[in-house]
Amino acid sequence: MAYILPLSSPVFDGNESHYMQQVIGSGLLATNGEFIEKFEKKLSWKIRSHQAVALNSGTSALHLALILLGVQSGDEVICQSFTFCASANPIVYLGATPVFVDSETDTWNMSPELLEDAILSRISQGKKPKAIVVVHLFGMPAKMKEILEISERYDIPVLEDAAEAVGSTYMGRSCGSFGRIGVFSFNGNKIITTGGGGALLSNDVSIVEKGKYLSTQAREDLPYYQHLEIGYNYRMNNMAAGIGLAQLEKLDECVSKRRAVNQLYRTLLEGFPGIEFQPELAESASNFWLSTILIDEKKTGFSNDKLRVKLFREGIETRFLWKPLHLQPVFRGARFYGGRVSEKLFLSGICLPSSENLSHEDQKKVVRVFEKTLSKVL
Ligand SMILES: *Cc1c(COP(=O)(O)O)cnc(C)c1O
Repeated sequence: MAYILPLSSPVFDGNESHYMQQVIGSGLLATNGEFIEKFEKKLSWKIRSHQAVALNSGTSALHLALILLGVQSGDEVICQSFTFCASANPIVYLGATPVFVDSETDTWNMSPELLEDAILSRISQGKKPKAIVVVHLFGMPAKMKEILEISERYDIPVLEDAAEAVGSTYMGRSCGSFGRIGVFSFNGNKIITTGGGGALLSNDVSIVEKGKYLSTQAREDLPYYQHLEIGYNYRMNNMAAGIGLAQLEKLDECVSKRRAVNQLYRTLLEGFPGIEFQPELAESASNFWLSTILIDEKKTGFSNDKLRVKLFREGIETRFLWKPLHLQPVFRGARFYGGRVSEKLFLSGICLPSSENLSHEDQKKVVRVFEKTLSKVL
């Protein structure tokens, strides 16, 4: 159904159609047009320190990143449990095994303590993990300082799944620039979109070059088709890159608008019993891709699901937080280090409409449903 207030919708009020006309005029729609390189240059300039390869999805970026980190069949890879399945699926594509780690309550992302427990436990079993997949959930930076210290101590590289965190910063640096490799997604409802798209970032030029090579069928630079390795068809096309460039030009604006949406929810729901927002540490600035809250049913008298249904009836789209991967049937039997932190977040949380073009009136409409639901309870 079409929602009156969707969860997160893109806004194309910049150069998108202008660039699209240029792409069509050039006749280069595939992976060979001028916008691909322009998009990559702009992206690496925004992120500083890192170079970027534009790809056709965040998932393919994660897949290539794991290959570039040397992950092979039979290896183990540590992965944050509280995330979208695409953080872990590529581990399985490679015949490797995900080992899930629970979250902490300060950021809802991977707990550094549990990460270290997991590493020590796996090493004691003779199974040193090949990589650590950390996620910045809903745009909120993970505790990267602690996680990078652990990564160095045990010499295990970090793959930073910054799919949801384009434009977020931690200690003044862009998310996506902390790991040996960082990954972005530009899927349809992310903070900026190329329709479908992703990027792989690294400050290691050889990784970036190899990623580009593997993403274009591992073609050697010869007048005929010569292949020394198995490659992939993972490159971003020129149409997507044109839209991406226009979206990137207004990334800062997108972030400040989403942050304003989050701030207004905080103000409107202040004093409302039993509502808690995803916390933001002093060293972090989330892009607030999605505004998320926890509902303490004992205080509100209604659950996240009850609220979801009430909002749905008013044409307002919400979504539960990601169901932890260690609780997903498809990952049944996977190793998990932690307790019930991410599970509890999942059971009480909900994502509110967060599009950059929400008006104050729209947000008040959302909050009025909270008030109506509460007064029914009292
Ligand atoms: C969206 C997302 C991905 C996958 O990106 P796609 O571009 O949809 O393939 C990976 N990880 C996380 C955390 C995501 O939210």
